[in-house]
Amino acid sequence: MNDSKILVIGAGPSGIAAATRLVENGFQNVVLIEAESRIGGRIHTIPFGANVIDLGAQWCHGEKDNIVFDLANPCNLLESTGDVYEEYKVIRSNRQIVNEDTSNKLKTIVNESVVRRKEDLNSYDGSLGSYLTDFFYNRLDLVENIGIDRTIAKEFLENYMKFENSVEASDTLFEVSGKSYLEYIDCEGDILLNWKDKGYIRFLNLLLKSNGSDYGTLKERVLLNKTVTSINWDKTRDLQTEVVFTDGEKISADHVICTVSLGVLKEKHLTMFKPNLPPSQQRAIEGIAFGTVNKIFLEFPHKFWPEDWTGFTLLWREEDLEEIKGTDKEWLEDVFGFYIVNYQPNILASWIIGPHGRYMETLEEDDILDGLMWLLRKFLSFPVPTPSNFKTTKWYTNSNFRGSYSYRSIRTEELDAWADDLSVPLTVTSTGKPVLQFAGEATSKHFYSTVHGAVEAGWREADRLINFYNSAIDPNSQL
Ligand SMILES: Cc1cc2nc3c(=O)[nH]c(=O)nc-3n(C[C@H](O)[C@H](O)[C@H](O)COP(=O)(O)OP(=O)(O)OC[C@H]3O[C@@H](n4cnc5c(N)ncnc54)[C@H](O)[C@@H]3O)c2cc1C
Repeated sequence: MNDSKILVIGAGPSGIAAATRLVENGFQNVVLIEAESRIGGRIHTIPFGANVIDLGAQWCHGEKDNIVFDLANPCNLLESTGDVYEEYKVIRSNRQIVNEDTSNKLKTIVNESVVRRKEDLNSYDGSLGSYLTDFFYNRLDLVENIGIDRTIAKEFLENYMKFENSVEASDTLFEVSGKSYLEYIDCEGDILLNWKDKGYIRFLNLLLKSNGSDYGTLKERVLLNKTVTSINWDKTRDLQTEVVFTDGEKISADHVICTVSLGVLKEKHLTMFKPNLPPSQQRAIEGIAFGTVNKIFLEFPHKFWPEDWTGFTLLWREEDLEEIKGTDKEWLEDVFGFYIVNYQPNILASWIIGPHGRYMETLEEDDILDGLMWLLRKFLSFPVPTPSNFKTTKWYTNSNFRGSYSYRSIRTEELDAWADDLSVPLTVTSTGKPVLQFAGEATSKHFYSTVHGAVEAGWREADRLINFYNSAIDPNSQL
């Protein structure tokens, strides 16, 4: 353990979890490698507005069997986000605020679908999109919903689908596998716990056992601005794995744990791994889906929306949508709502999904802001002041991420390719020694797309090595 050199690639939550656990278990020679100039990966808290905002992970999703909750709750770091994403107003593109009775009934239908799908999808062969569409229109036909305007209902469903796409990171719900959607397991308890005015970065400090001034357990073990170009591994002989960097440097190690995102693997695996990864792993990289969702934060000089609003969603009337099709405003169709942010009195946060979200990443800041102001002023019937500050994310164009998080698509099902296939360690045939391992959120069977999934995956691979060495010392101990 003292001598073995371990390189952990990627300083997101998974890599940090793997590296800290190894050091805490006696491995001295652990180096955490990161391409960016900061640690955290898809946890990225920045100063903004009254305190901070999270450009990536924002909430701890659930309380039971959730290691993020387990670590943070004793320190009183988490708080419920309340009903922000339930109590929103529903506004049409002609500035009509949909009346409470109609919007509550429509919200009830989609909320019911979220509960019912946990049973229904078990035996469902289609996509989440077709399930939701059928469910929605069946419910709409029930007596209690007969008075609902069908045009508004259709607009509502279209908007709600965008919201669900933001949860999945899919471009369309019609590509999300209905059955495999159930692979994700919700942790019981509040699924929208926020980090008050501190941001998700506080969690990294907990993992690192740091007060924020240094890397704690990983002090002097982190290399930033180091991009891996290739990993040369060998299963036929007990040799070190060689990692090559863009600056030409090569570092050899006994074990490499790779935690780069599935987006990066999709783009680079054929050039990154020498020899290529086994076919089952390549199929998993191709088959598991990875999409993009981006965030938008607007800070205003003062709160201009009504006191009791927690947010509003944007319903496009067909004729209004037609007008922006093919124009420089088309991308705004997929900005589906604006919501308040806890501990940020003057900020509205928004989400944008799919190809339009990726397109936004290519626009100049001025054009993005102009578009967003046009959108808000089109939908709202009261004056909207010019923001004092704004920030949008670029998870797709950043070559160290290439998107936001993973999900299970129809293609995943067709290729029969799963997280378990992705996380198989590559070992030396004669000794079983793991030389190249995979962690990261996409390798989590049930908690993919989350921080708790990423951390568990990092711990899983650290434990694999700890067990390997323990069993070498004491062959009777478990593997
Ligand atoms: C917009 C958004 C919102 C989200 N919201 C939530 C949420 O509310 N709650 C939640 O639980 N999860 C959320 N997530 C998901 C969560 O952030 C991720 O699941 C988690 O952070 C993934 O961690 P990871 O360690 O697997 O990967 P990453 O965090 O991506 O870490 C991998 C690291 O590898 C580095 N890297 C990549 N290529 C190379 C290379 N060639 N050489 C060296 N280093 C490299 C990257 O720079 C990165 O730092 C969100 C994500 C996004 C993008």
